[in-house]
Amino acid sequence: MTRIWNDPADFADEMIDGFVAANGRHVQRVSGGVVRSTEVPEGQVAVVIGGGSGHYPAFGGLVGQGLAHGAALGNLFASPSAQQVHAVARAADNGGGVLFTYGNYAGDVLNFDAAQERLRGEGVACATVAVTDDIFSAAPEERHKRRGIAGDLAVFRIAAAAAEAGHDLAGVERLARLANDRTRSFGVAFSGCTLPGAEEPLFSVPEGRMAIGLGIHGEPGIDETDVPTADGLAELLVAKLLDEVPAGVDVAGARAVPILNGLGSLKYEELFVVYRRVSQLLAAQGITIVDPHVGEYCTSFDMAGTSLTLLWLDEELEALWETPVDTPAYRRGSVDQAARRSENASAAIDAEAVPESDEASREVAGRVRAVLETIAATVDANVDELGRIDAIAGDGDHGIGMQRGAKAALAAGTIAAEAGAGAGTTLARAAAAWADKAGGTSGALWGVILTSVAERLGDSGKPAAAQVAAGVAAGARGVMDYGKAEIGDKTLVDALVPFSESLQRNTDAGADLRTAWTAAAEDATRAAKATADLLPRMGRARPHAEKSLGTPDPGAHSLALIATAIGGLLHPEGRNRNA
Ligand code: ADP
Ligand code: MG
Repeated sequence: MTRIWNDPADFADEMIDGFVAANGRHVQRVSGGVVRSTEVPEGQVAVVIGGGSGHYPAFGGLVGQGLAHGAALGNLFASPSAQQVHAVARAADNGGGVLFTYGNYAGDVLNFDAAQERLRGEGVACATVAVTDDIFSAAPEERHKRRGIAGDLAVFRIAAAAAEAGHDLAGVERLARLANDRTRSFGVAFSGCTLPGAEEPLFSVPEGRMAIGLGIHGEPGIDETDVPTADGLAELLVAKLLDEVPAGVDVAGARAVPILNGLGSLKYEELFVVYRRVSQLLAAQGITIVDPHVGEYCTSFDMAGTSLTLLWLDEELEALWETPVDTPAYRRGSVDQAARRSENASAAIDAEAVPESDEASREVAGRVRAVLETIAATVDANVDELGRIDAIAGDGDHGIGMQRGAKAALAAGTIAAEAGAGAGTTLARAAAAWADKAGGTSGALWGVILTSVAERLGDSGKPAAAQVAAGVAAGARGVMDYGKAEIGDKTLVDALVPFSESLQRNTDAGADLRTAWTAAAEDATRAAKATADLLPRMGRARPHAEKSLGTPDPGAHSLALIATAIGGLLHPEGRNRNA
């Protein structure tokens, strides 16, 4: 159980405030996360890491000399938004370009990629190395689909050491990739984790049993056995990793860094008992152990569990590994303390003036606001259910993520509408707020959908039903471009595309918006239900494909619920297609 919080919705923000207050020697807060509070030489590549909160010391605790230059910090178990990543990278950049490195999760990939694209557009050189160390999350032929767990530390450290050593962006990227290619992890769990304020753990492991192949977001294990002895566990961990030694490594005579990671509520003493046997087993294979790590490097709230990571060194990696590090949570050797840098004026969120609009569009903006209210109310009423179905094969955050997004969208849309914005600007501001605050994959995708509709609404005149249908169609294309999911992959695309096609068909046939929308919402609902029979091929649920059979996709389900609720709200006045 997580026991202490104020309002659970504020937990991540308040946690970051306290973390920064306690660690001013290393970090300072910026919009979207933290950056080093110490000077960095001009032209040094900035290593920017990040991910959801709940994994301390990942990610904020790993910012400081010799390690990351900045960390984008999302909400609990939710990816930071593209805006957050962008803002942190901007603050961390020293003119040498930015290397992004983070665990390979769909939401993180979407948001970091979007930030990277934007930065490149602004002339900042960027590269990305997503960490894929968890050998149980995909087969060796699909290494690029594996997720990142405690091996994050190995890749972050090598990337940062390469940056400090003066490599350019291409050099830092090459070395980070080399580190990732030579890092493998494998983990187990004895109990699930419970988010602040949640009544139920995200998943549970039966008493006396051990889940194998856990994810750090509470994604359920892939297999289960009786809890072994400490020696038995050490044997399992080592055997699994020796089964998958990277190409080019000869085990006998190899040099490797072992990282035995505690996931949150395993005692250090227990870890040491396990490590005792791990070290014996590695030595028996003729492996020279370098700089062993036993402790908490990437946790999952209060999850009881552990993972073993091996970083198989070569000469180049070992030279980089030996360099000193000084961060709030992680120290190695002794660094020459860099001077403190002056506080960044953290980017104030200035209330942008609203562009001009006409009376008709402002009236529609009022309707947009009502739609946002309906969306927020619908999500509120279903938040537990959405979390529950996401927990079956995903990470259980779909309800809270949608809730944060919908609430932020309503707030931003209300401010814009009250400031006299037209319908397009009102919805565009709401879309940006949704993507920024929701985190997760679905947050970014809802931002895309709403932005596309907003573009078609414009700020003058009353939009025709066909414009709305065209906006939804553009949103569906945008989601598929951005998230790369196709029909049948068991994602929200499976509800969005039938919805969009039906809406288009009905408006083309001359139906008024309410009629067209209501029929389309029925199609979306049917399609969302039908996702229960599909196996997920995208997103977090993919490693647990079979578990999700019989349960609809959470993102498709929430989309259908929202479409249905909006249908109930729409006014027959939408009929006037040429208005
Ligand atoms: P996260 O997966 O980051 O935890 P959420 O739980 O909020 O985010 O949303 C999960 C939903 O996102 C899934 O049920 C699915 O509908 C949708 N999703 C995940 N990946 C993709 C993708 N690549 N394309 C479209 N939708 C996706
Ligand atoms: Mg989720």
